[in-house]
Amino acid sequence: MPTPLRTAILGGGISGLALALGLQRGQLACGQRELEVVVWERHGRNQPCGFGFLLLAGGLQALQSLGLDPRGQGLGQPLDRLRLCLDNGQPIREHRLEQVLAVDRSTLLRALQGALPADAIRFDHELQDLEWQGEWVQAAHFSNQQRHSADVFIGADGVNSHCRRHIVAMAPRPARVREIVALVELPDLAAELGLDFLKLLDPRGGLAAGLIPLPKGRVLWFVQFDGERFAPPQPAAIPDFLRRHVGHFALPLQRAIAATDLGQAHLWQPWDVDPPARLVRGNLALVGDAAHPLLPFTSQGLNLALEDGALLAEALLRCDSAASLAFALQSYAQQRQPLLPRYVSLGRQIARDFVAPLNSAGHRVPLAL
Ligand SMILES: Cc1cc2nc3c(=O)[nH]c(=O)nc-3n(C[C@H](O)[C@H](O)[C@H](O)COP(=O)(O)OP(=O)(O)OC[C@H]3O[C@@H](n4cnc5c(N)ncnc54)[C@H](O)[C@@H]3O)c2cc1C
Repeated sequence: MPTPLRTAILGGGISGLALALGLQRGQLACGQRELEVVVWERHGRNQPCGFGFLLLAGGLQALQSLGLDPRGQGLGQPLDRLRLCLDNGQPIREHRLEQVLAVDRSTLLRALQGALPADAIRFDHELQDLEWQGEWVQAAHFSNQQRHSADVFIGADGVNSHCRRHIVAMAPRPARVREIVALVELPDLAAELGLDFLKLLDPRGGLAAGLIPLPKGRVLWFVQFDGERFAPPQPAAIPDFLRRHVGHFALPLQRAIAATDLGQAHLWQPWDVDPPARLVRGNLALVGDAAHPLLPFTSQGLNLALEDGALLAEALLRCDSAASLAFALQSYAQQRQPLLPRYVSLGRQIARDFVAPLNSAGHRVPLAL
């Protein structure tokens, strides 16, 4: 295998950037074998960024291992309590949260990008196909007609991964529970929420809202609904949908909705996917959502993506030959694959509880912690 080890990371989201950073840092720290790390991202530098998510203990640890200090750098808002209430605000129960940070996606992306050398990310490169020779990928082809070869290819291209199709045949089903998500700057409400994640549940089941404070006086809010009972709205009909179905929910949600530019709200279609049979084929491996799209109920998409990136970086830093490269990818897959059935089934369990009327199951903590 030629030196340096040329690593092509296909997708510049959270998992791809975490992996790139892990490789860069490991190389600098250990003075190990020279690596060439390039992230190929389909969007331009100002890529669409999304809203936010919960960073849990595993993701926090992975970020720290990459040299980022989310608490110290103010990347997130610590949360120490999940408050479950009825839709009218009447409390049901509380659950203590430990090591949970609410993080917005654009801040996290910027922090990861900023920690990498400027030329490590090539924007405006949309992967179109992979060129194989037997069981080994030779090169990636991009929609701008460019071809780039490498020694190892990592599919970090998200939930609709092109790379995944080269490894496993998976049939993603649209998940039954859909989500409208938005972000609003509302310092008063953010201050009132304090360190709380507030979740409001319609007792009939199948409808809930969540409010999460973010740094700088912003609030992430979402409305989850059973797509079999409530017809998902077109983007222009989101305000009407919210008025009709959650107009009776408690005041914090009404304040958040009233202050939001609903043109920016996003209707999310999550996918329900079985655990993958394989994460690796030859010199191609999958990380993050490309490897294992999870239901948002689990709150684990971000965390597993960060852990995947950090772990795969460690494995790749240890290899010094083609044989050890295959071994490194397999050992990564062997570590990650056994975790996935649990998260898939936890997500499905929470989804089943969600669509049922509120009873003791409805009091279960709706997170796969
Ligand atoms: C725009 C966007 C907004 C999001 N917002 C939220 C949110 O608000 N809350 C939440 O919980 N999750 C959100 N997610 C999903 C969340 O980021 C992931 O579940 C999680 O972080 C796993 O990260 P990932 O790197 O595996 O996938 P992603 O973060 O989805 O990253 C995949 C990357 O691959 C790139 N890509 C895809 N196809 C190609 C291709 N053919 N060629 C080159 N590059 C490609 C994408 O542009 C993207 O940058 C969002 C994802 C995206 C892409």
